[in-house]
Order: sequence, then structure tokens, then C-alpha cells
Amino acid sequence: MSNLHPSPEAEECAASLAPAPVVQALAARVSSLGALPIRRALPLRERRLVGPWCFLDRYGPLSFAGEKPMDVAPHPHIGLQTVSWLLEGEIIHHDSIGSEALVRPGELSLMTAGSGIAHTEETPQSNSGKLNGVQLWVALPDAARNGQPAFHHYRELPVVEERGGLVRTIMGGRAATNHFSPLIAAELTIHRGAALELPLDAAFEHALLILDGEASLAEQRLVPDTLYYLGQHRRSMALGSVDGARCLLIGGTPLEEPVLMWWNFVARSNAELEAARRDWEAHQRFAEVKAYRGPRLDAPAFVPRPIR
Ligand code: MN
Repeated sequence: MSNLHPSPEAEECAASLAPAPVVQALAARVSSLGALPIRRALPLRERRLVGPWCFLDRYGPLSFAGEKPMDVAPHPHIGLQTVSWLLEGEIIHHDSIGSEALVRPGELSLMTAGSGIAHTEETPQSNSGKLNGVQLWVALPDAARNGQPAFHHYRELPVVEERGGLVRTIMGGRAATNHFSPLIAAELTIHRGAALELPLDAAFEHALLILDGEASLAEQRLVPDTLYYLGQHRRSMALGSVDGARCLLIGGTPLEEPVLMWWNFVARSNAELEAARRDWEAHQRFAEVKAYRGPRLDAPAFVPRPIR
């Protein structure tokens, strides 16, 4: 996934904590990624981080025939991990370290950019004609952000049957995934007419996004395409649904230092962002994605974050 905003200004993302549990409803921004309509739930002006989670795009559900709804040409990343999670459909991933993975529903595709990687994400030639999923980015902590790029694909993830629903861990928690700061991502299924109560790590801040169906959180009705920021110090969460629902839960310990985000890069200074842009444009640092046919994405003009 790539940020295709025409002239993105570098954004400072600093943890802004709610001292107590809250329920803050934040409407996702409607945008598009090439031909693919998306709703961006992070970053938002009112909330740029949830723990280390700094980006959340929701796309689909959609049906298609013939065309290729996802076709993200080669583009670079630094300082973050990309998380692809599908509810329906398929994506084929290729990257500059030679990885190839067919991503299917219930599988985690996890790319660690470290000091620099380039990748592509496409609807494969052979497909189900459906696409429905999310892409998230995790900002890497300082100790890990200049590490070697890596790619991991997890076909089996822990699923626990709880009273009232299912908890499928995507990252962190019971899942032995490659991550670098305390965090959680999980797909929660709430059965029809059921209540699902889950313990939460009080050291984390959390947020919820409805993926399908309808649900309520402690009697408050939740609507689609809205990020519900839940604050920190919350020990449990009580969800309910009349007709059944799936939700995405994300959380983690707040980042200790503010990060700068611009285009597809997470860094700490304007100079680092500019250097990454220059290296991409000069075909340095980031190797080519050899499996992709077609031109790569050009970096937009850099607009530094004003030093205040
Ligand atoms: Mn990407």
C-alpha cells in the first residue's frame, strides 16, 4: 500500500494519550489508491497514532470481473512494518529482497522495511473476483528502525473460541509474529445475538474498527468506517451484536518518541525523509522489484515539517 496524496507534508506523530478509558469516534477519510476506493482511518488529524500503529486503510468489500482493483506499482518504505489482512479475495506481494507471497483471508503478510525496502501489491491474475481487507503500518522503535529489511508470511494464526465469539490474533499477543514493541492486532468475530467480553492490556492504548455487520461497545452503537479510539488503562471491553459482526482491534504501548511520517516513510527528522526520497529517485538503497511489469511510483515533492 502506498500513500498517493499528491503533495503530502511531513506529519509529526506524537503519542497524545487519553489518561483514562474513552470512546472517541473518528470518521475515516475517503480516498483512493489508484482505482481502488479506500477509507483511511489512520493517520487522522485528530489521532495519528494508536500505540505504534500509524496507518490504517480499509478497502472493499467489492466484486469485480476482468479489471485489477489493486495494482500498487513499486514504491519504497523505511522505518515501518506493513501488515496486510484480507477478509475476502487475494493479493500478490513482491518485494526488492525477492519475496513473493499470495495473501489470502486469515493470513498475515508482514513486511519489515527497516532501513529500506520496495514492494508491489496486486490483484493476482487468477482471483475470486472479490477484494475486502485492511492494510496497516507499524512505526518501528528507534532500536529496530535501521535494521535489515525482512518479509514474513503467516498462514496459521491463533484462533481462540470465547463465549460469544472468536478471537483471531493477527499480530502480538498469542501470535509469534516478528514485531519490535509491545502491540496487538486481532480480528474479533461476535456471534449473532451474543456478547463478547475480552480482557485488554491496561498498559496499551487501543482502537476498534468495525469490519462488517453491526456491533455495540458497552451499549454504544458502533458504525462502519469509523475508528473508535479507546484510550489507555482499559482492562476489558464488552462487545455485543444483534446480527453478528467482525471488528479489528489494534493496540500497543505508546511510542516513546514522536515520529515524522511523509509519503511511505517513517523517520525522526526531515533530513532522513529527504535522504530516503533522494535515494529512491536515484535508484539507490532500494533494490528493484524485479517481478513487477510496469513503471514504479515517483516520489512526490518533499514538503518538510516546519521546525517549531
Ligand atoms: Mn506499501
